Amino acid sequence: MTDPRRGLPSMDALLREPPVPGWIERFGRETVKASLARALAAARAERGMNGSGETSRLLASAEADLAARARSSLVTVLNGTGVVLHTNLGRAPLAEEAIRAQTRAAGYGNVELSLESGERGSRYDHCAALICELTGAEAAIVTNNNAAAVSLVVNELARDREVLVSRGELVEIGGSFRIPDVIARSGARLREVGTTNRTRATDYEAAIGGAVGLVLRVHPSNYRVEGFAARPTVADLATVAAGAGVPLAHDVGSGLLRPDLLPGFPEEPSVVGSLDAGADLVTWSGDKLLGGPQAGLIAGRAELVERLRRNPLLRAYRVDKTTLAALEATLMLYRDPDLAARRVPTLRMLRESADSVERRARAACPDVPPPFEIDVERTRSVVGGGSFPGFELESAAWVIRGGHAARLAHRARSAVRPLLGRIAEDAFAVDLRTIAPGDETATAEVLIASLADEEAAGG
Ligand SMILES: *Cc1c(COP(=O)(O)O)cnc(C)c1O
Repeated sequence: MTDPRRGLPSMDALLREPPVPGWIERFGRETVKASLARALAAARAERGMNGSGETSRLLASAEADLAARARSSLVTVLNGTGVVLHTNLGRAPLAEEAIRAQTRAAGYGNVELSLESGERGSRYDHCAALICELTGAEAAIVTNNNAAAVSLVVNELARDREVLVSRGELVEIGGSFRIPDVIARSGARLREVGTTNRTRATDYEAAIGGAVGLVLRVHPSNYRVEGFAARPTVADLATVAAGAGVPLAHDVGSGLLRPDLLPGFPEEPSVVGSLDAGADLVTWSGDKLLGGPQAGLIAGRAELVERLRRNPLLRAYRVDKTTLAALEATLMLYRDPDLAARRVPTLRMLRESADSVERRARAACPDVPPPFEIDVERTRSVVGGGSFPGFELESAAWVIRGGHAARLAHRARSAVRPLLGRIAEDAFAVDLRTIAPGDETATAEVLIASLADEEAAGG
């Protein structure tokens, strides 16, 4: 008996095969050798292989292995959940302008250089003027995210001192951002004011004193207290804080720049509204309602921002150059509210009428193979990202019935371009609000392929 494994080509022979130099150029020699070695090992383990066609099989197997290993673990998905700011899907999708700016900024750039003087400049100057122009603030600074912004503000203004926060605002946001913990880790002491449902300006007045370094107002973004509930206005709070000579910082979280950007939505604190009401510093996220990259923005009084700039923690909270570029490009769109509404995907999705979403859903609604059925139905979508809790937007979706909804969802999620949808009452729903105009056909194709697979598997 001849040993079937004898027929295997050697590594050296495989490396001389025609496609291999191209692979080496692309993936690197060590990577290619490792994939060929895995292909050889698998062939050796496989019994009864005959020698013919061996090399081409080995090469095909190595090529598939190389491709699989080169695949990014970060995959672009089609968001059919209807959740506009989906934390698990990377929150805000960037505007085209921001994506282009981010790509340009990836090379060398004047991040920390003044081209005018040729001397060292500050990365914190890049978006600052634009933020001031848009908000009317005296000064601004950008950090890596809003958690860092809040932590920096607390550390600078209340280190070893007290921070006054209403008991109704001691919130947890996104699983790991808890106001009491952030204050403690930032080196300050929390002093709770009022009660969970009602806090008055006089409660702050009674608590404010020598040990208090900061009054912190936190937007309880992701929940609502209803019924017998009250809080002082930002203006009332500003009066109390100013009277005691203590700065007032307002973490508005979701970062709606101006109140008029989302007509018809419930009231949400806006950056401009808060500054106008007298907040000394306002902090917010770049990738929530602003619709930009992950970042923390701080705007307010020049003297306080100057102190933040000198705080050593800022180095640890430093914002990346590509983020700054994307943020700047996003903010520029806000110079014209109509332009922002059209070009910032988050605003566009939130502002699209249910009729318009339904028109897009109908125009691209695919035919589905039996036993599945598809209908265009009105649904409700949410803003997400801890914004507008309890508020639902009317939307439209493809609703697929007649199969096992969870299995279908799994298939759609496993596609090369994964499609995420919603499962509702044994149906799989794809909400078109969060499918970008132009992506409807690609979405329909993924859906059809998933249904066909599910059908073939006896779904
Ligand atoms: C989202 C949020 C944060 C955290 O912001 P990140 O940008 O995710 O770090 C902090 N405060 C409030 C009120 C928020 O809504």
